[in-house]
Amino acid sequence: MTDIVVIGSGIGGLSCAALLARYGYQVTVCESHSLPGGAAHGFERSGFKFDSGPSLYSGLSYSPSPNPLRQVLDAIGEDVDWVNYDTWGCLLPEGEFETQVGAEQFALVLERLRGAHAVAEWRRLQEFMEPYSKAAIALPVANLRPNLGAIQTLGRSLPQLLKHLSAIPKLTGPFGDLMDQVVTDPFIRNWLQLLSFLLSGLPAEETSAAAVSFMFADWYRPEVQLDYPVGGSAALVDAFVRGIEKHSGELRLSAHVEQVLVENGKAVGVRLRNGEALRADVAVVVNASVWDMLKLLPEGAVPQSFLQQREETPECDSFMHLHLGIDAAGLPDDLACHYICVNDWELGITAPQNVVLISIPSRLDPSLAPAGQHTIHVYTPGNEPFEIWQGLDRKSEEYQQLKLERSQCLWQALERVIPDVRDRAKVTLVGTPLTHGRFLRRHHGSYGPALAAGKAMFPWPQTPLKGFYCCGDSTFPGIGLPAVAASGMLAAHAIAPVSKHLEMLKQLGL
Ligand SMILES: Cc1cc2nc3c(=O)[nH]c(=O)nc-3n(C[C@H](O)[C@H](O)[C@H](O)COP(=O)(O)OP(=O)(O)OC[C@H]3O[C@@H](n4cnc5c(N)ncnc54)[C@H](O)[C@@H]3O)c2cc1C
Repeated sequence: MTDIVVIGSGIGGLSCAALLARYGYQVTVCESHSLPGGAAHGFERSGFKFDSGPSLYSGLSYSPSPNPLRQVLDAIGEDVDWVNYDTWGCLLPEGEFETQVGAEQFALVLERLRGAHAVAEWRRLQEFMEPYSKAAIALPVANLRPNLGAIQTLGRSLPQLLKHLSAIPKLTGPFGDLMDQVVTDPFIRNWLQLLSFLLSGLPAEETSAAAVSFMFADWYRPEVQLDYPVGGSAALVDAFVRGIEKHSGELRLSAHVEQVLVENGKAVGVRLRNGEALRADVAVVVNASVWDMLKLLPEGAVPQSFLQQREETPECDSFMHLHLGIDAAGLPDDLACHYICVNDWELGITAPQNVVLISIPSRLDPSLAPAGQHTIHVYTPGNEPFEIWQGLDRKSEEYQQLKLERSQCLWQALERVIPDVRDRAKVTLVGTPLTHGRFLRRHHGSYGPALAAGKAMFPWPQTPLKGFYCCGDSTFPGIGLPAVAASGMLAAHAIAPVSKHLEMLKQLGL
């Protein structure tokens, strides 16, 4: 018997579990995989330590920070060591160049590529976005509560919020509407489309203005630096697990939940694939994607209308992955950690195989690879259609052939940075939407729900089943590490009393 079972150890589930453990609940996290972290888990092959997914972090190496992920770490008293950096490599139709994060640094790129008119427009955009950025961070998600107690927790940040009231209505719509008011330069528009797509898996016309405004506040502040956790994403996951275990919580790996147990209209625990029943006195929280969550509910547990509405959630596409361990002999010392490759703006930012991201984290943290070697992750970010892989037998020749074909765009992007990379590879792992779906237990290997801002809302953690809550990228505020940490906080605060919540806010000075 435990108080709360959390199904899944993605960053959403871990944030929720660690906070609830800190509030004094007995928490058990059941993770299907043999490694914790979900999309953010780390894994090791032949001495190379890989990030399975995220590698782009910001707003985490300082505190207090508006980043909800940092706020959870502060609340549970855990941290990792961060390396700071500021340079990105760009492989764009306009050319190949490096740029630094920061609004003024990007103005230098614009000056070179587009001239004074574009620089002036970029500066106008920064000014135009300022009230929205301030509004987006004026209300920390840590202060939100999905119930009446919000009157007390929001009250603490109300004076800040009131200052930015007029900007708030626009934040609930799509960023495309804001962009259209100021930006005409085709390159700046393409760049903003790219940033929107990386944030949400959707074009600017469907990406939340609040999410982009938050990003403006973070990336275009003075002296901005990006962060990378020493030890990779696995080190970040470990920090959350420490936060759970030091408060007597438990993480159970290889513990696939088959079904949520329901008695008298309330979730009372879970049944694992091995047949074991685990009872939860207070609540069950599910961190799986919306489509995977629905599979866990016994018939009749929730109204048909809820099932239907959630089943119809539109999906973002999936990923192609290339994880490489390479010989680094003779490579320049100043390779960037991240490169972004766009093959053709005309194809549209969401077109399959068009955008490729490259991450070489051993450039920042050499402990991720054996001496003299590099750890690399190249991927297409949420633009690989699942349909072309659906139903293929992973052992078949057809699958191997498609894998070879569809991974070429990853190799080709990387060859622009390291021309002889194929000869240097010592470990080569190619992942497809089927791999992504299988290892991350994610329906169709999807990046997450494709909910267009202004047309649909990410749901809150509560469900019609008593004692059953959701967190992760299928709940408000959506996809990405800061967002899922926020969703974990919201689920925790749907359960914990307002007194505990207020005490935490006081500790964080929020
Ligand atoms: C390649 C890639 C790169 C990314 N890059 C970035 C980035 O740079 N910055 C950023 O902010 N975000 C990035 N993201 C997005 C971010 O990683 C995700 O939005 C986030 O990690 C999702 O977290 P989550 O908690 O919602 O769910 P998940 O990480 O999907 O975790 C859900 C967990 O639930 C488990 N589970 C599912 N069903 C069951 C069951 N029945 N029983 C037990 N366990 C179960 C799964 O095994 C999984 O561990 C990236 C994502 C990917 C894939």
